[in-house]
Amino acid sequence: MIKTVAEVLLPVDEVLRIKKRRIMPAGKKKNLKRISIVTGIHGDELEGQYVCFELARRIEENIDNLEGIVDIYPAMNPLGIDSITRGIPAFDLDMNRIFPGNAEGNMTESLAANIMEDVSGSDVVLDIHASNIYLTEIPQIRINRLNEDELVPLAKECNVDFVWIHEASTVLEATFAYSLNSTGTPCLVVEMGVGMRITREYGNQLVEGIFNLMRTLGMWKGKKQPVRSPIISHNPDDVCFLNATAGGLFIPDVKHWEVINKGERIGRIIDPLSGKVLENVESPVDGILFTIREYPIVDEGSLIGRLLKKEIMTA
Ligand SMILES: [Zn+2]
Repeated sequence: MIKTVAEVLLPVDEVLRIKKRRIMPAGKKKNLKRISIVTGIHGDELEGQYVCFELARRIEENIDNLEGIVDIYPAMNPLGIDSITRGIPAFDLDMNRIFPGNAEGNMTESLAANIMEDVSGSDVVLDIHASNIYLTEIPQIRINRLNEDELVPLAKECNVDFVWIHEASTVLEATFAYSLNSTGTPCLVVEMGVGMRITREYGNQLVEGIFNLMRTLGMWKGKKQPVRSPIISHNPDDVCFLNATAGGLFIPDVKHWEVINKGERIGRIIDPLSGKVLENVESPVDGILFTIREYPIVDEGSLIGRLLKKEIMTA
């Protein structure tokens, strides 16, 4: 069943429509748990769209195993997706800064309020992001410290490599996930892959995780498959940020999720005109890269990567 969740008339004779698909077992309809898979809040992040497709495909293949409601929202920001824009193009606005919205407010506020109303009450929500076009992320779940106790057990079921518990910040209060979590609907933020691309390997990994989570919640029968147990970071000091000290072209030497020793070269920043190496980017710690620069052009200060310090992996 496909349903329009929110609708806004645009000045140019267009309609912004946000749709969802509901998959549920035939017959039994009482007291079913509900999982909501949400993606495309940022229009340039497409990894989650593959997850939506693949999850639905595998559910339908074994529909008799389904014992709950699966709501799939593949395109929260359809205008952004159509125009390869991160925000909502007509409003020049980051959609992940408009929640919880207001039913009586302007167009985007009422849009946000309608989305909140539709998703609220789910037993669990996954809000799938794909970094941006500059950085690639290993499949990970990010959790606000305020919701740590409730969300970490759910995150552990999702077959991701890493769970990053971060500090509360006022900037994040207008996000979809914050708004849901603060009103009693548990929402996990997944970050994986890179903007404007599909990394099928990561998508398939997360789909396995969603099935495992559904199994744990009693929404899916099917046989239990082993899942990864993620490294969990609780402490801001666990993560080390690498920033460029010169502008130029970044040429990486290492791969994602590779263990790196202190002093090892992660890559070089070069100048294609003079042929000079402007910076040898060396790892300041023993660790593992969970974020790495994808888009080669960097300015001074640009993020090159994020390392998880080795101590925490063996702790
Ligand atoms: Zn995003």
